[in-house]
Amino acid sequence: MDSNPFPEDQEEFRDKISTVDDTGKRVWVFPKKPAGRFYNARIWLSLFLLILLIGIPFIKVGGEPIMLFNVLERRFILFGIHFMPQDFHLFGLAMLTLVVFIILFTVVFGRIFCGWVCPQTIFMELVFRRIEYWIEGDANQQRKLAASPWTTEKAIRKLSKHAIFFAIAVVVSNTFLAWIIGADQVMKIATDPLNQHMGGFIAMLVFSFAFYFVFSYLREQVCIAICPYGRLQGVLLGKDSIVIAYDHVRGEPRGKIRKEAPKAAVQAETKLGDCIDCKLCVHVCPTGIDIRNGTQLECINCTACIDACDEVMDKIERPRGLIRYDSFTGIEEGRKKIFTPRVIAYSVLLGILLIVNILLLGARTDIETNLFRTGGSLFNKVDEQTLSNTYNYTMVNKTREDMPVEFRLAGSPGEIKVIGKAPVAQSGEKTEGTLLIYMQRENLSGRKTELHIEVYSNGELVDKTKTNFFGPGK
Ligand code: SF4
Ligand code: SF4
Repeated sequence: MDSNPFPEDQEEFRDKISTVDDTGKRVWVFPKKPAGRFYNARIWLSLFLLILLIGIPFIKVGGEPIMLFNVLERRFILFGIHFMPQDFHLFGLAMLTLVVFIILFTVVFGRIFCGWVCPQTIFMELVFRRIEYWIEGDANQQRKLAASPWTTEKAIRKLSKHAIFFAIAVVVSNTFLAWIIGADQVMKIATDPLNQHMGGFIAMLVFSFAFYFVFSYLREQVCIAICPYGRLQGVLLGKDSIVIAYDHVRGEPRGKIRKEAPKAAVQAETKLGDCIDCKLCVHVCPTGIDIRNGTQLECINCTACIDACDEVMDKIERPRGLIRYDSFTGIEEGRKKIFTPRVIAYSVLLGILLIVNILLLGARTDIETNLFRTGGSLFNKVDEQTLSNTYNYTMVNKTREDMPVEFRLAGSPGEIKVIGKAPVAQSGEKTEGTLLIYMQRENLSGRKTELHIEVYSNGELVDKTKTNFFGPGK
C-alpha cells in the first residue's frame, strides 16, 4: 500500500481554510447537533469544569481567595499560597513547566485539551451552541432561518438568542474578572453605586462585549486562526501522536451503500471500504472540515465526528471506530507507539522542571530577609573585648498579615540589637531597618567571620540568612 494515503494532488483542501470561500468571504458553519457517548461524556465533564470555573473564586482560605491571578497588582495566589512580585521566578518557572507539560501532552495525545477542557470549546460547543439548537433548531433549520426574509418570528428568535448570549457573556466576563480581582471585588462593582467603581464597571462591560463577540460571531475562527496553541499543532504533532483520525485503511475506497443490500454484502461484492460516504462526519464538524482528508489544523478534537460515524457503523452493522482516537502509525500498522525519542526527551525535561519547582517551593519562606553591612563602616570598638558591626536589613513579608520579628544569632555567641522599635514585617511590603551585632574578639575567626542569622516570628523560625562580621584580624 502507498505509505501516503493523501497524495499531494489530492491535498488542495490544505491550501485554504474550510470556513473561507474562493472569494475570501466567511463561510458560516451550521454544524449538525452531535449526539453519542463521547458527546454525553463531554457534557458531564463540561458541567464539572464549569462548576469549578465559577465556584473556585468564591472559595476562601483564611479570608483570602484560594486562587487569584491579579496581574494588575502582580498578586498571585495558587492553592492558598501567596506569590509576591519577589516570587516572580517561581511563578515564571511554574508557567514554563506548564508549557512543557502541554507540549508533551500534545506530542502524545494531540489536541485532546481543545476538545475536552478548553474554556473556548466548552462555552462555544456546550453552552452557546446548545442554546442555539434550542432556539433555532438543528443545522438545516438554522440554515433556513438565516436565509429566510425577516419576519416577526425570525426577529423574536434572533433577538431572544442574542439577549441570552449577551447575558451569558456577562456571567463569563464576571467569572474571569473574579479570577483576576477576586469575587468580593466583583460583587462590590456589581452592587455599589456605579460612580464608585467606574473603571471596574467599564472593564466588566468591555469583557462582556468581547465574550459576546467571540461566541456569537468569531466562534470557530478563534481555534482556526487566532489561538496560538492551535497554530503550534503543525510542529507538535507527529505520526505517533494520538489524534482523532479516520481509518483510511478500513474506510477506503469509500462508496454509497445500496439500501436493499446489507453493507457487508455490498462490501464483499464491490470491495468497498467501510465508509459509505454519508458525510455525517462532515455535517457535525463545528470547524467545517472533512476528517477523512487526514489530520488538519482546524480539528479541535471535539469527537462529534466519532459519535456520528459510530452511529452510522451501528446502522450498517460494521464495527464502530472508523473514526477514532488513534495515530497515523496506529492506523497504518495497527500499533500504538507512545514512547518515541521526542516524548522521552520532553518527559526528562518535564521531570527535571518538576523537581526544580518542588525544591524551590519547598525552600520558599513567608518572609525573605536580607542583611547588608552598612556602607562605609568597618567595625566599632565597644570595649577591649567587644566589637560591633552595623547592618541594614530588608524583609519582604509575603503573607497577608503583619508579622512581629526577632533576629537571633545561630551557632555563634554574640548579641543582636535592633535600632529603634521592635521590627514588624508589614504584610505584602518591604520593611527596612538597622541593627547592630556585638561579638567578642575571641569568637572571631579572622578579619571576616561568617554569621548565620535566624528570623523568628511569634517564637517560630520563619527565615534564615547569612552575613559577615568584620574585625581587626588576628
Ligand atoms: S460518517 Fe463515517 S461512514 Fe459517513 S462519511 Fe463519515 S467516515 Fe464515512
Ligand atoms: S474533525 Fe471531528 S473532531 Fe475534528 S473538529 Fe471536526 S468533528 Fe470535531
